[in-house]
Amino acid sequence: MAINWFPGHMHKAQKEIKEILPTIDVVIEVCDARLPFSSENPMITEIRGDKPLIKILNKSDLADAQLTKVWLEYLDAQHNVKAIALTTESPSIAKQIPTLIKKLVPHKDQEGKQINAVIMGIPNVGKSTLLNTLVGKAKAKVGNEPAVTKGQQRIRLEDGLYLYDTPGMLWPKIVNENSGYRLAVTSAVKDTAFDHDEIACFAAEYLLEAYPDRLKERYKLEELPVTEVELIEAIGRKRGCVKSGGYVDFHKASAILINEIRDKTLGPLTFESPNMVEKEVVYFDEL
Ligand code: GDP
Repeated sequence: MAINWFPGHMHKAQKEIKEILPTIDVVIEVCDARLPFSSENPMITEIRGDKPLIKILNKSDLADAQLTKVWLEYLDAQHNVKAIALTTESPSIAKQIPTLIKKLVPHKDQEGKQINAVIMGIPNVGKSTLLNTLVGKAKAKVGNEPAVTKGQQRIRLEDGLYLYDTPGMLWPKIVNENSGYRLAVTSAVKDTAFDHDEIACFAAEYLLEAYPDRLKERYKLEELPVTEVELIEAIGRKRGCVKSGGYVDFHKASAILINEIRDKTLGPLTFESPNMVEKEVVYFDEL
């Protein structure tokens, strides 16, 4: 699968972040709670050095609550990292961010010095929406296509506390094929970059293993098929996606599965766990 996800303005973002970084006290990275590893930006670990990091698992309404808890514990155990789960469904939690920022740099807060934070993250994780929640009005432009945030802005959260928005886009961590598929399943990267049926096969294989009961219930399957192709065909038959000759329209059935994952019809889902990604990192490193 070819993934070309490094347009020119990402270089620009990288350059501008490096420029503002010396003035930054706290880095906030917004990730997608459904794929906290694959929606990370690889550059952030590299550039933040020792600065405290607030890791936001956003869109947690779409993610599996149990796995979100596992991820929060895993991330919190990392050096100088504080992880929180957010969703637009509970905006009051986002309002605690200013307090959290100050807690991470207690010396500056006590001395009454200006504190600067920067918010970063790959496209479509909900940065603009979060900024809107934080400033209380529609300042940042929100869109459901990747790459809406353009041009850098600095927002005053309260007296002496500023939040810098990242200027352009940062690319996701597509260091391995699975991350690419997971980003595609959750529509973090545009559909056109991927083979639709392949994304559905990847998702079907994962769901068969991780969420078999949800599949049975949703598609009214008494017995779960063994393979991902059989699952998609079964979904197709249940939904009447059958072509002349009795063949299942695989493309249509794939679209049904992907759409029902994305619009939460299949319930909240998480596509990776800390254990899974740790194993994958070792596996892909050895390739
Ligand atoms: P950005 O590119 O990171 O700035 O992302 P946006 O703020 O433009 O959000 C991308 C899409 O995600 C929009 O359609 C938002 O409505 C949606 N979104 C943002 N936050 C949440 C959330 O907590 N839950 C859900 N379900 N959708 C969200």
